[in-house]
Amino acid sequence: MLEWLFSGFKNIYAQLGEVSGIGATCHLLRICGKTILIDFGVSISRNGEFQVQGYPAGDFLIGRHIDLIIITHAHLDHFGALPRLVRHHPESKIIMSRLASDPIAYALGDSLKIMSEEWNKSRRLGVEIGEPLFTYSDLADLLQSDSVICVDLPSWLGNKNPESVLGDGWAGWQIGFDDSGHDIGAMMILITDPNKQNYFFTGDVCSHDQIFVQGVMLPDRSFCGDFFDHPGLVMITEATNGGKPMVQTPDQAIGQLGRKLEEVEVRGGSVLIAAFSKNRCSKIALACIELGYVPFVDGSGRTMMRFELGEDRVDLLIKSGKLIFADEDRKHPEIAQEQRRALLNDELGFHPIIAPSGTFEGGYSVNWAKDLLPNPKNAVIFPGYVFPASVSKQVLEMEKGRTISLNVFSPKLRKPVPTPVNVRCEVCHFDGFTSHDYQDGLVERVRLAKPAMLIVHHCPGEESFNAFSAKVAELPNPPTVIWGQHQTVVELR
Ligand SMILES: [Zn+2]
Repeated sequence: MLEWLFSGFKNIYAQLGEVSGIGATCHLLRICGKTILIDFGVSISRNGEFQVQGYPAGDFLIGRHIDLIIITHAHLDHFGALPRLVRHHPESKIIMSRLASDPIAYALGDSLKIMSEEWNKSRRLGVEIGEPLFTYSDLADLLQSDSVICVDLPSWLGNKNPESVLGDGWAGWQIGFDDSGHDIGAMMILITDPNKQNYFFTGDVCSHDQIFVQGVMLPDRSFCGDFFDHPGLVMITEATNGGKPMVQTPDQAIGQLGRKLEEVEVRGGSVLIAAFSKNRCSKIALACIELGYVPFVDGSGRTMMRFELGEDRVDLLIKSGKLIFADEDRKHPEIAQEQRRALLNDELGFHPIIAPSGTFEGGYSVNWAKDLLPNPKNAVIFPGYVFPASVSKQVLEMEKGRTISLNVFSPKLRKPVPTPVNVRCEVCHFDGFTSHDYQDGLVERVRLAKPAMLIVHHCPGEESFNAFSAKVAELPNPPTVIWGQHQTVVELR
């Protein structure tokens, strides 16, 4: 498999994920004889009534030696297939940031639970959807592995001596990590190879502030020294919003949310904000608090907020009456059930309800949607990326009064049950809460980093790639710009 990747001795880059748009991110770098994989995520799609997970191309590179696996951040599309990769690669060291490691462990467990439920359901129905991507023992092996190295940000691996951490064969290398501004614990990677060639991998990146994550342009000189002064830099960057200038500042996005909440409160409705648990729930909850509302957070959004904001901060917000969590006592789920009932019956006043998942494929948002969607007074807000073919996309685009089938979790049966629901409420998509840089920030970063070669990925399409590269071409001494498309080999200098 992928013979072409390993033939010859040239330094190369190849992108093995992102077959169509976002999902299953994976980058392969072969530099000075080392194979480095950056990220190994999943894509989520539907197979009839089942949710299935896709993974990067290359059949897990079985039989190939991978020297190093680096996970840039704790979003499922960047690490969701990691336990399976590690099953086939006991030789690899795995690097992630310390702040991303707990959310990654938690989300892998959650994702395995969902895959196992789908697998069991398929067997009950007598159809074949393929086994879950990895097993409980794969996950346990990964979580207990000595090969996982957690790094602080910013830091240089082994204090500029990776040999001390990665072992023999890494003499002359320097590998550094710094915040990328995308999410808590999300990182950029700086690599100097033994030939003194520099590589700058931004990962998912953001230069504007996002409520509780500070934006980042480039690493500070006090950390990276003259890294960006060397000629011949190879820079690899995402360009999710490469075609889009910023049309709404983060403050304006909060203002827009505030106006919508007020509108719905005045007309006596309820608001459900269906958010992804990582990064989005904390962000939206803090935005609501800033606007003077007391949000009600349900499902795994609670766990992620505790990871991201810290137990103390969350407890303080709850104690001071600024935030409500659905009761977290797992032994007494009836307490949370009673809260939810009271909230629905308007006995608690107006509280924006925040619940994952943002796709409406599973999680508590689906149960809330079942109750809120039929009433025109209510509103559902999607504050994140709306995946093509997701239930949320269908709900967003469907004609009012039509019916959608939701997989509503039944506490009695302890499994999701397909339930028809009328969609009559207002449905909005706010994309001003993006955690990806807009065109302006992306171009400014290229200007400051002064690469000789720029590889762009995560670009939604040709139009957006062309718009971004046209802006880059206007820079003084512009780099060669290459679109790193799925399974295309890029020869590096
Ligand atoms: Zn991300």
